[in-house]
Amino acid sequence: MKHVRLLTPGPTMVPQEILAEMARPTGHHRSAESRRALREVTEALQYLFQTNATCLTVTGSGSAAMEAAIVTTCAPGRKALVIRSGKFGERWAKVCAAFGIDHVTYDVDWGTAPSAEGIAEQLAADASIGYVIVVHCETSTATACDLEAIAKAVRSHDVLLIVDAVASAGAIPLRMDAWGVDVAVVGGQKAPMLPPGLSFVAVNDRAWAVADSFAPPAFYLDLKAYRKALAADYSPPYTPSVPLIMAARKALASIREMGIEAVWAKVATLARATRAAGEAIGLSLFSKAPSDSVTAFCVPDGIDDAVLRGRLRDEYGVLIAGGQDRLKGRIVRIGHLGHVDAVDTLGALAALEIVLNSMGYSCTLGAGVAAAQRVLAASAS
Ligand SMILES: *Cc1c(COP(=O)(O)O)cnc(C)c1O
Repeated sequence: MKHVRLLTPGPTMVPQEILAEMARPTGHHRSAESRRALREVTEALQYLFQTNATCLTVTGSGSAAMEAAIVTTCAPGRKALVIRSGKFGERWAKVCAAFGIDHVTYDVDWGTAPSAEGIAEQLAADASIGYVIVVHCETSTATACDLEAIAKAVRSHDVLLIVDAVASAGAIPLRMDAWGVDVAVVGGQKAPMLPPGLSFVAVNDRAWAVADSFAPPAFYLDLKAYRKALAADYSPPYTPSVPLIMAARKALASIREMGIEAVWAKVATLARATRAAGEAIGLSLFSKAPSDSVTAFCVPDGIDDAVLRGRLRDEYGVLIAGGQDRLKGRIVRIGHLGHVDAVDTLGALAALEIVLNSMGYSCTLGAGVAAAQRVLAASAS
């Protein structure tokens, strides 16, 4: 059986202990045990997002949480400003369009991060904006923005800040309440180390005040139904994925046990090690504001990225991601979020050196690995 290591920026590897939770007999979703699990997940999510906001669990991937967030909180008569700096920013605009949510887009070059100043200018120029929707870590370009600064700039206006934290919550620093984020979403198959199928939304009181002022164009993803469930002793509105909720309880508890700062530090160290390795073997970073959740290297001239990734997968059991859309064939992306550790990362970098060399890209075998080792050694001491 092939041993495949997922170094993709979602889905990420699922630890055995978390998978094992899913093998337990599936109880009724309104049983005391299931309701207790949902309560524990809800509380652990507050820790993950660093918030006292209401945290809700949706059965569906991250996009379901995105849709739920905006159909529930974007009231008619207020316009959304959607920041587009990659594939996921584009998706937010598409969700707005699908539901007829009034929106304008602010386009930022792929590989650069939207700035607080740029967003402040947009807000100053258009008083009808009621929402800012921004992607914290744009996975498609491996770019992170300074969300704390953006939140500060947004706070001086009467707008809600909705954040795509799908690839950032549980990976890079995010303090929802301290920074002033109103709504945030995350997907289970990213930093939370779950098999795909669950996503989570945090909604604060400012956002609920708006949500309570209108009827959303949704039924299943109307978050008000989920909020009601929490008040009703964690009895969910519809049948959720109970096995995934059991797994989420275990996964989120393990993040809490390790401590969120320690998790952020681990991800940052793996990212630094990977960037150092790339630099040592002459690979350039695609992003001008590289995130720690995922690293994107430009594919060197003359290298076919599909062949490169296929050989890494088939010969070494290392799965990394390619580029999406206009970046297809131009970048490869290595994830640092979730269960992936130093040895997985060193192994992937070692395999990358071997395959690149055999494809005609010359680099000294071990040079990248040694650079990564130095970063890891320094952070361990
Ligand atoms: C993965 C991801 C999503 C959601 O994608 P799903 O496939 O629906 O889970 C949204 N935003 C970002 C930044 C992501 O990385």
